[in-house]
Amino acid sequence: MSSIVLFGPPGAGKGTQAERITEKTGFPQVSTGDMLRAAVKAGTETGLLAKSFMEAGQLVPDEVIIDLIQQRITHPDAAHGVMFDGFPRTIPQAEALATITEVSHVIAIEVPDERIVDRICGRYSCAGCGNVYHDTFNPAPEGGCECGKWEEKRRADDNADTVMSRLAAYHEQTSPLAGWYEREGIFHRINGDRPIDAITEDILTALN
Ligand code: AMP
Repeated sequence: MSSIVLFGPPGAGKGTQAERITEKTGFPQVSTGDMLRAAVKAGTETGLLAKSFMEAGQLVPDEVIIDLIQQRITHPDAAHGVMFDGFPRTIPQAEALATITEVSHVIAIEVPDERIVDRICGRYSCAGCGNVYHDTFNPAPEGGCECGKWEEKRRADDNADTVMSRLAAYHEQTSPLAGWYEREGIFHRINGDRPIDAITEDILTALN
């Protein structure tokens, strides 16, 4: 089993790119953020524990995340590898991942901090199909998304207060992982402040 990691600050476009790359590679997208939001919605023990950290823009404790991942990779769809989106986010998570799967590529989507706030604060998606939109940069068609199941959804933590904590957590706890993976020679930097298609193209080139 050999996996890919999508790395980058909140709002870099990891989720959007993961969906596109998944179609090309066949690796399922494993987003710890999505798994935690589902757990919060379902009111599970993990969800109850994670909720306050997520609302404060802080990282959920490593044990909780590693446990989620260990369960997830036992699913048959993960047998050949997965595309991790938003995991690992700390050195202990990366150490745990190294015991689970070989990581072949770490794709770092880079976006300057000053662009992140605008990108996150106007972000919304269609609950029906998962398409991601933005009030200014990429509005949904009038009357809603073309999937036919239009339902506008905004994340509780996509607000100006929380974004600063999420960025701080990224710089303090997650960005040190770049050096870790750079030393292994599997780290690819991609300029994420460009049109979505151009970024996808560069990611696919890096994966080849
Ligand atoms: P995301 O959807 O990746 O932006 O994650 C949303 C929130 O879920 C983060 O701000 C954290 O509170 C939590 N979270 C997601 N993934 C992780 C992770 N790998 N480690 C710790 N917390 C996480």
